[in-house]
Amino acid sequence: MDIAENLNKIKSTLPAHVSLVAVSKTKSEADIMEAYRAGQRIFGENKIQEMAAKWENLPKDIQWHMIGHVQRNKVKYMAGFVSLVHGVDSLRLLREIDKRATQNERVIDCLLQVHIARESSKFGFDADEVRTLLKEDTLSELKHVRIRGLMGMATFTEDMEQVRSEFKDLKSLYDEVRTGQHGMDILSMGMSGDYTVAIEEGSTMVRIGSSIFGPRD
Ligand SMILES: *Cc1c(COP(=O)(O)O)cnc(C)c1O
Repeated sequence: MDIAENLNKIKSTLPAHVSLVAVSKTKSEADIMEAYRAGQRIFGENKIQEMAAKWENLPKDIQWHMIGHVQRNKVKYMAGFVSLVHGVDSLRLLREIDKRATQNERVIDCLLQVHIARESSKFGFDADEVRTLLKEDTLSELKHVRIRGLMGMATFTEDMEQVRSEFKDLKSLYDEVRTGQHGMDILSMGMSGDYTVAIEEGSTMVRIGSSIFGPRD
């Protein structure tokens, strides 16, 4: 696997308005540094403690994105440095992030994870829950979190028309809720297997792991 070559190939296909999260979960610090030397600065992890260990050891201009499911009792381990939390799936979690951000004198950017896949196992809000949450008065009391947009994962399937239709649904929800006072500008959708479709359907941020770093064990 030539990480720099993979990275450059992918970057050359991305439109300028789409940012790339290099998903480095399970990958070594040496692998991350190879991507770093090729110019990559945004990395995504799905385990908070693994991300915190890498943050400690690696260059401080890396922006760390938490892309996985977040347990409330672990938010404190990332609150000092995380740059975007993709997987916010409850108001309780948002409150905890706000509390820990306050302690760290930071504002933490967050995305609301929306359940778009037909599979039942994935985390996230449904569309109505997102609409309701964004109307909550309590949200404006959370001064140390900023909701920057939405994140979703399509069904894991070869059927690209199904994937496309799930991405379309998420984009349409995003367009609906971002009109108004919220100032949202990030739609995180697309992984190695489906990011070209995601971009066609309006993604502004793709999360790509195996196509850069090779398969995970
Ligand atoms: C692992 C993961 C990715 C990257 O998956 P690849 O198929 O390796 O590109 C993207 N998003 C989330 C939420 C992930 O957990």
